[in-house]
Amino acid sequence: TATPVAVLGLGEMGRALAAALVKADVPTTVWNRTPGKADELIASGATGAASAEDAVTAAEVVVVCLFDHASVHEVLDPLAQRLRGRAVVNLTTTSPEQARELGRWAAAEGIGYLDGGIMAVPAMIGTAGSEVFYSGDEHVFQRHKEIFDHWGTSTYFGEDTGLASLYDLALLAAMYVMFAGYMQGAAMVRTAGISASAFAARAQSWLTAMTGGLAGFGAVIDGGDYTVPGQQSLAFSDLTKMLDAVAELGIGGQPLAMVQELIRKQRDAGYDEHGFARIYESIAAPR
Ligand code: NDP
Repeated sequence: TATPVAVLGLGEMGRALAAALVKADVPTTVWNRTPGKADELIASGATGAASAEDAVTAAEVVVVCLFDHASVHEVLDPLAQRLRGRAVVNLTTTSPEQARELGRWAAAEGIGYLDGGIMAVPAMIGTAGSEVFYSGDEHVFQRHKEIFDHWGTSTYFGEDTGLASLYDLALLAAMYVMFAGYMQGAAMVRTAGISASAFAARAQSWLTAMTGGLAGFGAVIDGGDYTVPGQQSLAFSDLTKMLDAVAELGIGGQPLAMVQELIRKQRDAGYDEHGFARIYESIAAPR
């Protein structure tokens, strides 16, 4: 028989998660603090619960998608007894340490716990491009993976409960810095009347090609030897020409200046001829 699932939190994301389960004929009970948000889900086959406790009682797997770490505790703490022996899958965005704290709390209460990171926006849930990261109790992941697969690709990282959040936030960090790089270039060509859209078309193919270099950086960083032949040196990578250009164009150069600072730190330490990947050490050094 199908595993009954509860979804606590029917914001934009919670509604998308619940809708994907309903669509897949998973018996789904839904609850939201503010009433009214469940109406459409109930019309399409979900069961509405008057309280979070009623929702939990009806379910074997409790999916949580609230605002933040504090709201998760606010909702789950009073239900600890009810949750015992059940599985909680928390898809609320938290920091890695907050995820680990929730994992310890759940373990102490006898609750199975998986923490998740959703690598999608609500409209993507249940489509091919959607992926959700999980970490925590492996038996919960293995036992209920079929349910999670209704949201997209399900990827499990390990028993360290903080890993899904760590990967999620690390990928977002990489994405935002890359986006800022595009904005830097767009502002440069704009001075010649070239549109940001025209630049986007070129930047997309250029950046896509350049991501081919990531694996090489990874190998050098992991090997710890920045003198491996074939690398572009830090001296050669100096961004002065680009910084001079943005000054000449009269626009901001903040993304460039940030990278130049990482390079400068390593060059000041005497690593002119080491590879560009060495700027990793400017970031990863203990502070
Ligand atoms: P919304 O703001 O749309 O929804 C927030 C939900 O949290 C609402 O259901 C709200 O209930 C509930 N809530 C907030 N505080 C409390 C509380 N103290 N007690 C009970 N319920 C509470 O946010 P989203 O649905 O977009 O996001 C939910 C989570 O999913 C977040 O952690 C977000 O980071 C994550 N996420 C969202 C993505 C997105 O693109 N939207 C992408 C990836 C992750 P009420 O209706 O009563 O206010």
